[in-house]
Amino acid sequence: LLSACATVPAQVISAAPPDAAPIRLSPSSPAAAPLTVMRVAHATVLLDFDGTRVLTDPWFTESSQYHHGEPLGCSVAELPHLSAVLVSHGHYDHFDLAAFKAYPDKSVPMLVPVGLAARARRAGFVDVRELEPWQSVRIGPLRITAAPAAHGVAEITFVIEGKGRTVYFGGDTELIAALETELPRRFPEIDLALLPINGLRVFGHRLVMNAEQAAELASALHAKVVVPIHYAFRGGWFTDTFVLGYDGTPARLLSAARLKAPKTEVRILAPGQKLRLESGS
Ligand SMILES: [Zn+2]
Ligand SMILES: [Zn+2]
Repeated sequence: LLSACATVPAQVISAAPPDAAPIRLSPSSPAAAPLTVMRVAHATVLLDFDGTRVLTDPWFTESSQYHHGEPLGCSVAELPHLSAVLVSHGHYDHFDLAAFKAYPDKSVPMLVPVGLAARARRAGFVDVRELEPWQSVRIGPLRITAAPAAHGVAEITFVIEGKGRTVYFGGDTELIAALETELPRRFPEIDLALLPINGLRVFGHRLVMNAEQAAELASALHAKVVVPIHYAFRGGWFTDTFVLGYDGTPARLLSAARLKAPKTEVRILAPGQKLRLESGS
């Protein structure tokens, strides 16, 4: 992928959309607390484990070759206090350090794949931890475990457990066997899976799972809820015409999940829209 050159702030929504209808889940433990998810845009997601907040793959600006294709749900300045930042890999649309270094708390724990810590430290972050697949760290009430990924560069995905809930964040990985077999063996109960669906190809070579593969993974993970990510992105005219190919939309995920993962509830969230997962009675 082309690297980002000059970047400009991305457009932010002017007013928050109404919250999505909440989902009631059977509690995976008696202490399960409400979990709120808000898609900022693309793979940037804010997870709120009842007051303990985690941000994934920060991307807040655009360049001539990288467009969100949707406004942002919030700016860096509007972010709440974060307990952790998870970074799947070093591509600009997942690790926009030039913008994210404006986040004021430089001691926020930042979890990155092996090889990325030096960049984060140069941007001023002081608590940066590199994780190999299946390594776990504890951050407050959360246990965060790196999971494998395949994307042509060093990438990890994440399982975040806390307050009785388990979330899987899929970055922009391809669908690989370890995610369909080892991941559900280690984490048999996934409440929420954030799965990429745009099936991105670079010169014909697939780098991201498509919508149908995301439905397969939702089934393998027994995910109770899936929120798709990584689908509105567009490059520039040249890259979209000659370099990149897209293979997946939220509508395709909805129809694929009806067949392949009928027990999974798929929710498509507008940027800034909040979805609350609550314990059933
Ligand atoms: Zn990428
Ligand atoms: Zn990506």
